[in-house]
Order: sequence, then structure tokens, then C-alpha cells
Amino acid sequence: MSGPLSFETLKTQVAAGEVDTVLACLVDMQGRLMGKRFHAGHFIASAWEETHCCNYLLATDLEMTTPEGFASTSWEKGYGDYVMKPDLSTLRPMPWLEGTVLVLCDVLDHHTQEDVPHSPRAMLKTQLKRLEALGFDAMMATELEFFLFEQSFDELRKSGYRDLVPISGYNEDYNIFQTTKEEHVMRPVRNHLWNAGLPIENSKGEAEAGQEELNIKYAPALDTADYHTIAKHAIKEIAWQQGHAASFLPKWDHSRVGSSSHVHQSLWKDGKPAFHDPNDSLGMSQLMKHYMAGLLKYAPDYTYFLAPYINSYKRFQKGTFAPTRTIWSVDNRTAGFRLCGEGSKAVRVECRVGGSDLNPYLAMAAQLAAGIKGIEDALDLAPPTVGDAYAGDTGLIPQTLRDAYVTLKGSDMLRAAFGDDVIDHYARAAEVEIEDFDRVVTDYEVARGFERA
Ligand code: ADP
Repeated sequence: MSGPLSFETLKTQVAAGEVDTVLACLVDMQGRLMGKRFHAGHFIASAWEETHCCNYLLATDLEMTTPEGFASTSWEKGYGDYVMKPDLSTLRPMPWLEGTVLVLCDVLDHHTQEDVPHSPRAMLKTQLKRLEALGFDAMMATELEFFLFEQSFDELRKSGYRDLVPISGYNEDYNIFQTTKEEHVMRPVRNHLWNAGLPIENSKGEAEAGQEELNIKYAPALDTADYHTIAKHAIKEIAWQQGHAASFLPKWDHSRVGSSSHVHQSLWKDGKPAFHDPNDSLGMSQLMKHYMAGLLKYAPDYTYFLAPYINSYKRFQKGTFAPTRTIWSVDNRTAGFRLCGEGSKAVRVECRVGGSDLNPYLAMAAQLAAGIKGIEDALDLAPPTVGDAYAGDTGLIPQTLRDAYVTLKGSDMLRAAFGDDVIDHYARAAEVEIEDFDRVVTDYEVARGFERA
């Protein structure tokens, strides 16, 4: 691995003509990189200290509209600036782009220079500080699932996203021959990300035609969220460079398996796994049990942060490996929460609820808030579910974005953890998605009712 880069090394590389472009980016509510391409000379001379962006970047939707109803910014308030403060510890090459490096920025209020509280990176940092005060570090890993298509993004967009053809003709779960055919995309993904300093573990075919998974080694939670964001961005760019589209839409076809982003979680103390107790039958410490009890109790509260769009909820179907219930079980892929590495030091909980469209900072921040609450209140963990978790109807995951919006808005736990302003901000973002969908006439309605209604 060659990254991350020190600022001094960047200066040397710029002087040697090896680097000419610095991308300075924030992470928006949707988990995308947004920012500017700096000439490296200007970046090392001054922009490394701070740059600016319009504050609508944290109050918009996927389409970059300017919805009303956000307290933080509006036409009335004149859509002012935020400070983008480069976090130089995130400086790293982007080896798939010539002469280019990336730095992630924290988002600060223009006047107070304080973190903007609803900025995704700030929200994760807030929960990590709470955890630190309890004496723990969070080690996390997120899995990235997505589909590769034969066609390019441009071709598909121009055709109105009709006739999408996955890059393979059959289910490619663990299939080496099929994934060999995709190596012109996946090999550069693994190697370029490794050279950017991301601890890539592997890629593999997933359980549907054209579906891929990328695994990155677990790391401190903030690094994991940064890795996820950079990897997702790289996958799209590298697929584009190769003339293909890569999509993180969780369910692009109702008859096919959806894409998830499982989140593996463990707490550590002084560099040792605090979730492990060798004397417990499953190797779980009391701390882990309290944390998991919090995760389970508050799953409906934070489902929005794992499934933020209308489409996200189409994934939760029985018999697809996507969960439908917020129960836990031991090494069982039908439950919302799976105990992994039981009996070993790698004992951890995997949340299987999140879709491939989650924002990793928000997903991890909200789950940490729930787990911390479980620890603070010493919640008891119910026994694990055995067998097919699809059978039964207790502890159902909110079924629609509308349901998740209600549980988000009414969550005292999340309001205490993040503040009312932050939760109201994201509740408004959920409303925007619902209002927009309610307004639009879909192909489904026309096909179903045009003649027969
Ligand atoms: P799966 O069977 O789901 O593919 P893996 O063994 O590949 O599971 O591990 C999935 C992820 O779990 C990997 O990204 C790995 O780095 C991560 N992981 C392993 N140990 C821990 C841990 N103690 N805490 C958090 N994540 C971990």
C-alpha cells in the first residue's frame, strides 16, 4: 500500500511534477464526494488550510434540488458558505486518475468554525467521542455490494435506464470463471484502492447475475467510513473508465436479488477486543450483549440511516438473504443481526439491514448511538433466534420509508444522541424523498391502469 500521503510528500511530488491535481471533497448526506479539483500548486500554497462551498450541499437530494423546509439553509437565508477544512490525515493518491490525489474535508460553520452538526463525518465523530468517554474504540467493516452492467452510464441514462443488461448471464456467487471475465474492472478496483492505502481484502461474485462484492479489512470506524466512500466512488469511476456502469441502487429489478452493505462491529479497549469473553458459551462479553441489545431495541429508530430512499425498502424480501426482522442469531444469514466469529477474539455483530445505498458515516453513527444507549442502560439481550428468521412476524423492520421516517422523527434516543436539529434535518430529507415519489407517476401505474382501470 502506498497511501495515505503526508503533506510533505505531496509537496515533493508536486515539485517533481508527479501530482498536479488535488480533489478536496466533503461527503454529502447521500454519501457522495462533492468538492473541487485544485491545481496542486494552489493547494499546497494556500487551499490546504481551508476552502469553501455552498451550504446547500448538505440540504439537497440526489438530484441537487433545493427543497424547502431545512432549518439550516434556505433561499430565505441566502444559501451561504460552509468552510471545507481539509483533514490532511486523509490525503491519498487516486491512482486510477493521472497525477491526482484526494483529501477529505470536514465541514465547518463559516462564522463559528465549529463542525456543522448534520455533516455525516461530524455525526460519526460525535458518537466516537461518546464511546471514547466510555473508554472504547469502535472497529468496523462495511461490505460493498453492487451490480456491473454491460452498458456504460451514458448509454443507460440516454435509454431511460431500460434494457439494463448485467455484465454476466448467470448467478456468479463465488464463481471464479465468471469473475475472471470481470477482471478488467475488478482488478484495477482492488489494486488502485490498495495503492491508495485502503486495506482491501478481496472481491467476489455475489448471488445474482452481474453482482459483485468488495471487502475491506476492519479498521477504526472513521477510517472505515472514509474507505467505503472512496471505494464506492472508485468503483463507479473505474467501471466508467472501462465503458461499464456500476450501480449501488439496492433493488434495480424486483425479481432479482438486491444489494446490501453489511456493517461488522466490535468495540475494543486498549487495543484488545472488548466484545470477547472466553468464559461465555458464544464468547460474548457482557459489554457486547448490552451493545447488541441496544442495536436491536433501537433498530426501527435508525432504519432510515440504513435505508434512506423509497427503493431501499424493496430489498427487504423473504428468502433473498436480505433480512425482514430485527432479531439476532448465530452465524445465520436470515436474521437482521448475525453473530460472527463466535467463541473467538474476532467475535462481532454483523448488521445485515443496510442497503448498498447507505451513507456509511450515518449508518455507523446511528448504530453506535443505539449500542452506547444499550451499554448505558445495561439492556438485556434476548436469546438468539434459531432456524429460518423469515418465519415469524415479531420485530419487523419498518416496511417503507414512510414507516422509517415516523420512527426516526419520534426517536428520543437519536434526539438525545445527535440533537433535535440534526434529527429534524434528516427527517426533512426523508420527507423530501417521500413527497417527490408521491408526486411522480411511475411506469408501473401507467402499465397497470392505463387500459384496465
Ligand atoms: P463474510 O462471511 O460475511 O464474508 P468475512 O470473514 O469475510 O465475513 O468478514 C467480513 C468482514 O468482517 C471483513 O471486512 C472483516 O475485516 C471484518 N471483521 C473481521 N473481524 C472483525 C472485528 N473484530 N470487528 C469488525 N469487523 C471485523
